[in-house]
Amino acid sequence: MKVAVIGAGQLGRMLALSGYPLGIRCEFYDRSADTPGGQVGPITTGEFDDIAALATFAARADVLTFDWENIPVSALQPLAGLVPIYPQPAALEVAQDRLLEKTLFRDLGIPTPPFAPVDLRSDLEAAIERIGVPGILKTRRLGYDGKGQARIMKRSDIDAAWAQLGGESLIYEGFVRFSRELSLVAVRSTRGEVAAYPLAENVHKNGILAETRAPAARITTLQRTAEKYVRAVFDRYRYVGVLAMEFFVADGKLIANEMAPRVHNSGHWTIEGAQTSQFENHLRAITGLPLGSTAARGHAAMVNFVGRMPSTTKALAVAGLHLHDYGKNEARPGRKLGHATLVAPTARARDTALAKMRRLT
Ligand code: AMP
Repeated sequence: MKVAVIGAGQLGRMLALSGYPLGIRCEFYDRSADTPGGQVGPITTGEFDDIAALATFAARADVLTFDWENIPVSALQPLAGLVPIYPQPAALEVAQDRLLEKTLFRDLGIPTPPFAPVDLRSDLEAAIERIGVPGILKTRRLGYDGKGQARIMKRSDIDAAWAQLGGESLIYEGFVRFSRELSLVAVRSTRGEVAAYPLAENVHKNGILAETRAPAARITTLQRTAEKYVRAVFDRYRYVGVLAMEFFVADGKLIANEMAPRVHNSGHWTIEGAQTSQFENHLRAITGLPLGSTAARGHAAMVNFVGRMPSTTKALAVAGLHLHDYGKNEARPGRKLGHATLVAPTARARDTALAKMRRLT
């Protein structure tokens, strides 16, 4: 089986690594060859809107997937006749636009923060009139890891937020006073088989995922609800592949923030912490293989290395630590360079170990 992967970042790299034992070969397409994926599999370089080059690349594979969410959907559509594309471009299109995404959630009965589209300054005034402050103004498209966002804590912040983001297509969201953030990583296969990992608890710093603990504590009823929400999205698209949904927990209830139609950073713990990793299950799902068990092997913690990698020697001195270095050639502030995971027999032992991992960041 040959899987064509558009985007050769760390997600693509981990997909390829999980495919080798199964005899599944991933090939990449990205702008540059010296990428995390390009270091572990064959890579074709080209622009993301070069439809002819993408078609040549796609035609060689049995199935096409992507590790990057901002691929122009208009470049994927012409490839649909050449090779199956999973997850479906229709789901990707919605996930690329925060307004379409929140509207989908609302249509499916999935709770969201109050939201309103904002194109003009007068729209923002009207949105704040209706939703109130505090809130967050976000670009509808191309925002990730906290980029393209401005917090409006009080009305006097409006000018600065508008100066930062005005002119783009925006969405204003009410600020959720959440007690914690959870995410569900789930998968649906071409055979219609569905599986979900235990909810994970995430901590973000400056809008970027800093750490994940999984399974999250106290999730029995939340797990059922989260799975119901994800299944609603699966049913809408007859979705195939891994899908991640991020939630706030407020007053004990789940409020959906966003979804990612791909393997997700908050699922990296599954490589060592679950029976089958999210990467392997994504490949199984899109190639028509039976899904693997999503059960946890213990209590896992994951920390991201953002902007700086720790010394390998120091990291590996932490007992039980699994290090993942994405092989990026340049460290930049805010750039995810690697992560570490640890699996412990109890939640308490996991939290003690997590404190040691945190010191490496
Ligand atoms: P996002 O890019 O939408 O995932 O936002 C990044 C992070 O900003 C989230 O994980 C939250 O910690 C925070 N955030 C985003 N939207 C909201 C909101 N409506 N209310 C409170 N915090 C938010």
